[in-house]
Amino acid sequence: MDFIHRCDRCGECCRSQKIPFTILDIFDVSAHLSMKPRDFVEKYLEVGTGSDGEKIYLIKATSCPFLEHDLCSINEFKPSTCRTTPCPKNKEYADFTKKYRLLTLEFLLNSPEDMIKHCMGAECTGEYLAAHKKFKVKTAQKYREKTESELHDRKHVMALLERIVMIAVHPEFRAMITAKIRKS
Ligand code: SF4
Ligand code: SF4
Repeated sequence: MDFIHRCDRCGECCRSQKIPFTILDIFDVSAHLSMKPRDFVEKYLEVGTGSDGEKIYLIKATSCPFLEHDLCSINEFKPSTCRTTPCPKNKEYADFTKKYRLLTLEFLLNSPEDMIKHCMGAECTGEYLAAHKKFKVKTAQKYREKTESELHDRKHVMALLERIVMIAVHPEFRAMITAKIRKS
């Protein structure tokens, strides 16, 4: 089985779904676009529900406003979801992941740092939205700082990665993936 993510750059995944943004993504992407985080949220985002039922910010438009000529205009600093979601057109990969509950295998193997950043960011965003109705830099910054400090805490990161492996990976592959991410 080939685990390499093959992208034909058709732009379909960017046109057909509302992409989630975490608090970390909001600060990162708005800084790269030289926008104030609050202006960025007001212009591009709305509060919605993520795939696991958690509250999250979503791009308002179903077609992503950062897609230009079928390419991502913010590719270098695109949100963590775009770094950790398998191609919806890759049927072989989709069938395999469905059968073996390996939703995130490729990313666990090839870029666990993106996966962990995405999971921690999503968790922090859910907590933020449960406590705050409106995005404010001052309050959001605290959640961002807490999450970034957790991202530098190797024990915390390893515990979360092992939890993800237990939830998302078929038992047959757990030992192999855990060994690999421990080395990274
Ligand atoms: S990930 Fe898939 S759907 Fe998205 S641009 Fe690449 S080939 Fe198209
Ligand atoms: S940020 Fe880039 S990769 Fe992500 S949905 Fe938008 S255009 Fe696609």
